[in-house]
Amino acid sequence: MTIESLYQIFLQHPSIQTDTRKLKPGDLFFALKGPNFNGNLFALKALEMGAAYSIVDEDIEGANDSIIKTDDVLTALQQLAKYHREQFNIPFIAITGSNGKTTTKELVSTVLASHFKTYTTEGNLNNHIGIPITLLSVQKDAEMAVIEMGANHQKEIASYCVYTQPTHGIITNCGKAHLEGFGGIEGVRKGKGELFDYIRARNGTVFAYDDYDYLHDMSKDIQHIEWYGSKKGTVTGHVLQSEPFLEVAFTKGGSFTSLKTQLVGDYNLPNVLCAVAVGKHFNVPDEKIRSAIENYIPSNSRSQLMEKGSNKIILDAYNANPSSMKLAIENFAKLHADKKVLMLGGMMELGEESIAEHKNIIAQIDAYKWDAVVLVGGDFAKIDHAYTFFANSTEAAVWLQQQHFENTYLLVKGSRSMAMEKVLQPV
Ligand code: ATP
Ligand code: MG
Repeated sequence: MTIESLYQIFLQHPSIQTDTRKLKPGDLFFALKGPNFNGNLFALKALEMGAAYSIVDEDIEGANDSIIKTDDVLTALQQLAKYHREQFNIPFIAITGSNGKTTTKELVSTVLASHFKTYTTEGNLNNHIGIPITLLSVQKDAEMAVIEMGANHQKEIASYCVYTQPTHGIITNCGKAHLEGFGGIEGVRKGKGELFDYIRARNGTVFAYDDYDYLHDMSKDIQHIEWYGSKKGTVTGHVLQSEPFLEVAFTKGGSFTSLKTQLVGDYNLPNVLCAVAVGKHFNVPDEKIRSAIENYIPSNSRSQLMEKGSNKIILDAYNANPSSMKLAIENFAKLHADKKVLMLGGMMELGEESIAEHKNIIAQIDAYKWDAVVLVGGDFAKIDHAYTFFANSTEAAVWLQQQHFENTYLLVKGSRSMAMEKVLQPV
């Protein structure tokens, strides 16, 4: 079947599903394959559950007219997304970077949504499946689309650009994340830089944080650049105070002189400045920009502030890498509290640099005084240190429940697979 014909079917049945457990009647079921599953095996079940069609790439016994055979289901999904994207002549803003993509995406989207019909990546659906699904969720009334792009190896962002065709691009930063897949920090810049390469070739616009010198190199020869920064740019601002939440003072860019966010951590400054810069660029009224940012509350263990009795907790367990871990510890060290406790999980996907990066974190912890430090799993297991160590977050939870802390500030952070949020759950 041609993509054009598949597109006609999609127009009749615009709800895409790849998981039969979440299937609703009328959905188009895309039978994707993964290392541990084969969607083709569920193609008939999906139809029984009410799917309008099942898109498959294997011969299905008992197939009927509602089974659509393609060469490759994933490719069909991506081509369909490309075809759909091409029906729109609106800004498509792509966001990549090592840290802060989702936060920036949410802030940018909420600012734009205050003034335009905006479609955006749900949660963290930022890969070769999530991006096409996001593109296919953009409806006729769309005025803006904001798409998060995650990557851990070269050529990945370039491939996303083929179907996303972004008109605007944001690289939040290039840090020490996924070093293994990218091949070191230079590899990270090259890989993330594929977004700016695409925008450069299409004469689009990028938004970039002036404070990072490498973004100046990476955006060389791009004609349209909106800089935001702590000193220079069309939007400039700095941290006014960050306890418990970040408040940003603006020196240039809006009629507001400050914004009170509900975000924890100085490291959110560029994310906020970026959202203001995008809002200003698209002429969102200042008052709407202000209230969108001030009302945004992060979810999903991304720098969430919680209170338990007399204790405060920064739950930042969504992910971690050397760059974000370093910033989180620095930020936490600055906060005022009677007692401070660190519970940090290992950092993944660092390849050869893993041990050295875990040692760096320990050296950073050593530089401050803490009331307790608990390290959990990862390569913290392979390094000599004087801190309490547990193999996993469940064991660390048992420890925490035995402590009976009062008036204590706790930072919980680690890579996703360490599930550090479990330290706060009853065991
Ligand atoms: P993922 O790769 O998992 O999609 P992400 O890039 O979308 O992550 P977020 O989920 O927005 O990032 O934030 C994750 C964590 O990264 C935050 O909780 C915080 O610790 C850190 N972080 C957020 N923004 C920045 C930033 N601008 N610079 C450095 N670290 C940041
Ligand atoms: Mg994300």
